[in-house]
Amino acid sequence: MNPEALKKNIAEMLTNPDILSVAGIFIVLLVLLYIALKRLQVKLSAPADASRELLEKVLESSEESVLVLSSSCQVVYLNTLMSKLLGLKSNDPSQQICQSIKIKLKKRWLGLDELIESEMVRSGMKRYDLQRTQLSIDEKSILPVTMHIIHNSQMDDEWRYIVILKDLSYEEEFRVLAHRHNVTKLPNQNQALEDLNLLFAKTHLINGKIVLIAVEIDNFLKLRSLFGYKQSTKIIIKLANYLVSRSEQYTFSVYHMYSNDFLLVMTDVADPQTAFDFVEELQAELKKFYKMQDVRMYLTASVGLSIYPDSGNTRNLLDNAYKALSEAKSQGHGQVHLFMPEEARFVFDELTLYNEMHLALENNEFELYYQPLVDAKSREVISAEALIRWIHPVHGMIPPDAFIPIMEKTGFIIEVGNYILNEVLKQQKRWELFKFKQIPVSINVSMIEIECGNFLDQVEKKLQESRVDPDLIIFEVTESKAMEREKGTLKVFHELHKLGVRIALDDFGTGYTSFSYIKKFPADILKIDRSFIEHILFKPEDQRIVLGMIELAHNLEMQVTVEGVENQQVADLMASYGCDYLQGYHFSKPLPSFEFQKLLR
Ligand code: C2E
Ligand code: CA
Ligand code: CA
Repeated sequence: MNPEALKKNIAEMLTNPDILSVAGIFIVLLVLLYIALKRLQVKLSAPADASRELLEKVLESSEESVLVLSSSCQVVYLNTLMSKLLGLKSNDPSQQICQSIKIKLKKRWLGLDELIESEMVRSGMKRYDLQRTQLSIDEKSILPVTMHIIHNSQMDDEWRYIVILKDLSYEEEFRVLAHRHNVTKLPNQNQALEDLNLLFAKTHLINGKIVLIAVEIDNFLKLRSLFGYKQSTKIIIKLANYLVSRSEQYTFSVYHMYSNDFLLVMTDVADPQTAFDFVEELQAELKKFYKMQDVRMYLTASVGLSIYPDSGNTRNLLDNAYKALSEAKSQGHGQVHLFMPEEARFVFDELTLYNEMHLALENNEFELYYQPLVDAKSREVISAEALIRWIHPVHGMIPPDAFIPIMEKTGFIIEVGNYILNEVLKQQKRWELFKFKQIPVSINVSMIEIECGNFLDQVEKKLQESRVDPDLIIFEVTESKAMEREKGTLKVFHELHKLGVRIALDDFGTGYTSFSYIKKFPADILKIDRSFIEHILFKPEDQRIVLGMIELAHNLEMQVTVEGVENQQVADLMASYGCDYLQGYHFSKPLPSFEFQKLLR
């Protein structure tokens, strides 16, 4: 026995409040006391089990369930709380309960002995904590618990593992209650907020749209004063049941937000018309919905909808659905209103954003997302475009269109541009190091950066320092902006080209470049602007323009990318036109680097 080791154990626990368990410390202290008493006992030749008896007495009064196992995982002691938790009749330590206790670890169920073996014995861990897991006894009842296991190799073989469990059933029940509406037992506004936050964090993985539908029965207060609480509650319950019964076909989740108000959440919607279809059905249904003493009540509901991305950012999606509901209500009964982005009252205030930008760079609030480009024939990922995002602590994700123009106006883009180039070079290095497929990454540069004087030197210096192959870097400049400039800038592009990086002309077709100027411009890639692709399937004129642009580019030995490919038909049409690369939501939205790199495995 070594009290020093135990003291160290306690010190470690105190300095690690994360997994600190008060119960754990308390029990280790007791064990320490036990060791001291045992020592004393040797000296004084006290009765053999006196000190353990004392320890057991104290553990008995602990508020945690405690189980002590020997080194061979035999039960040597358990307190009454533990035997109750495990559904045992007595505190008899001889019972073979170790095998009947199963603990859920990730997705597997392990016996307590297996868990100790795999998580502690093999790794030599002194303490093991599971903050929230499940415990099953004889594969019958399942309990939510937290669990701490303390091990001290210095102890005798008998008192080797001390297992402390806390039953979380009550807390869990409480949590569930706090997330349900008390009348209909449907998930309530707390649950809706949690679920929406989770959903919004993953929008980049969703191809379809998100539709929020806020439904409120009209005139409910009046109904309630006329028919009383009981009848009006029946109406609410009936409506709740109806919504749930339709939720499967229309694939929405139902939340009972406030007294007469429900929120329906549709995720991954291919066509938002489905939402309007359902709203129509709901209105029709409400007309024949409720009878009281054979008198049919004609109910109506006001409905507000918001759609991501059409109605704007996810940040305000819920508020916008309720703004739409309020607008619908102001128009009378049974009205439906869809929130339109023009109605957004929150416009990013330029001055505020400008003031916050500098700090944002220091605080690492900018993040690069990567959108893949695929080869038009093989559909394999062949390069990526780096697109900046500002993850603002209050406003959430701010799109680049909201802040790049301010950065350009104020010149701050030069600093941010430096940061972006560094990040991409670091990312390329990381992918090389971790043996991901190496592909070129395009970086958007603004003309302000090109014209600032030392852009070329910076690129050259950074390429040398990072030792990234220049072949892996493409700079994108917007056609209209690049072409407006003086001859001097043309020289910069030629010099850039000499460094071995490639140049892409972005948003091609939006400027009015003369053929003779394009011929002089050292672009390797021409990116046809999204506006030509948007309606290409139905606009023969756009089809002719795009075909012409592809031919022009190929004649000038440039390769062609089309952006904004949102479906298979457009992808196939573009491939049939001889376009080289395709980019768009059909293949993938811009993704954070850790999501993107999965595509490179
Ligand atoms: P861009 O260079 O034309 O970038 C393409 C934009 O189209 C991106 O928007 C991308 O998310 C979006 N997009 C891609 N595929 C599709 C699609 O299938 N459908 C639709 N509707 N959109 C698609 P994003 O990321 O919001 O960027 C907007 C603009 O902000 C960019 O336009 C670029 O001009 C500028 N930008 C973004 N990142 C940077 C940067 O790091 N530096 C500079 N200077 N500008 C940047
Ligand atoms: Ca671009
Ligand atoms: Ca573009």
